[in-house]
Amino acid sequence: MIHEIQPHSYDNSFHQYTPKQNDIALYYEDQTMLLILKDKKIALPRFYQLKDSAKDGAEYLFSIDGEGCYLLHEQPHIQKDHLLCMQSIQLMREAEQWIGFAGITGWQLYRWEQAHRYCGKCGALMRRSGKERAFVCTNCQTREYPKINPAIIVAVSDGDDLLMIKSPGSTSSRYHLIAGYVEVGETFEQTVAREVMEEVGVKIKNIKYYKSQPWAFSDTVMIGFTAQLDGKRMPFAIQEEEIAEAKWINRKDIPDHLNQASIGSELIQKFKEHKL
Ligand SMILES: [Zn+2]
Repeated sequence: MIHEIQPHSYDNSFHQYTPKQNDIALYYEDQTMLLILKDKKIALPRFYQLKDSAKDGAEYLFSIDGEGCYLLHEQPHIQKDHLLCMQSIQLMREAEQWIGFAGITGWQLYRWEQAHRYCGKCGALMRRSGKERAFVCTNCQTREYPKINPAIIVAVSDGDDLLMIKSPGSTSSRYHLIAGYVEVGETFEQTVAREVMEEVGVKIKNIKYYKSQPWAFSDTVMIGFTAQLDGKRMPFAIQEEEIAEAKWINRKDIPDHLNQASIGSELIQKFKEHKL
């Protein structure tokens, strides 16, 4: 999955370090980030490749293998022929996995900072806490932590068949699993049961936790579950705004999901291989 970058290690404990020459500089503009193309390989820019002024105001975010990754707030001067601006999502497909993970994790923090310049309660300017990863209002002291939305994804089975769906407007021939955001006042297990009932009208049992996964693209942590059909198979009652089609698909008819960046792909492949 996207965050499984072993043997590399990710350390997100809060510090206020200053950048060293070999540390990594993350610079974003909306959907794109600054990258270096070196020997036809995608690399993250390092401070020694930038002008010294790039260090001004650079904010420490996290480390990979002990190397600091810093967020730049100003576009750094860089030799143009080394510059590659790439969509943060595209990065996941084309770069080494740890580079992709660092890139999208920094991008999530960048978008959080962009959205928290002003206090949502009183409208005054926010400032960095300096003691933890948070913004604090300069007027009313409201504190804002990074936005992480919990969402569930569930592999519902009935014997050798897996419940799979297509979303409206999907151009892919592939089916995927039911997923949805956790609502206020719910446990994860309640969300799983509610989403499956709302989207396809199916009652389920034996809801079991599988694994979780950070998913920076939507500020989400995905919480994976398995479950089984409860009772007899009935016609689906489809929620048309959310679902275009639902199907029970036999393991042997499920196409391979070998690119397992997402927990959904891993769940599908594990079911196909009798490993769930
Ligand atoms: Zn305020």
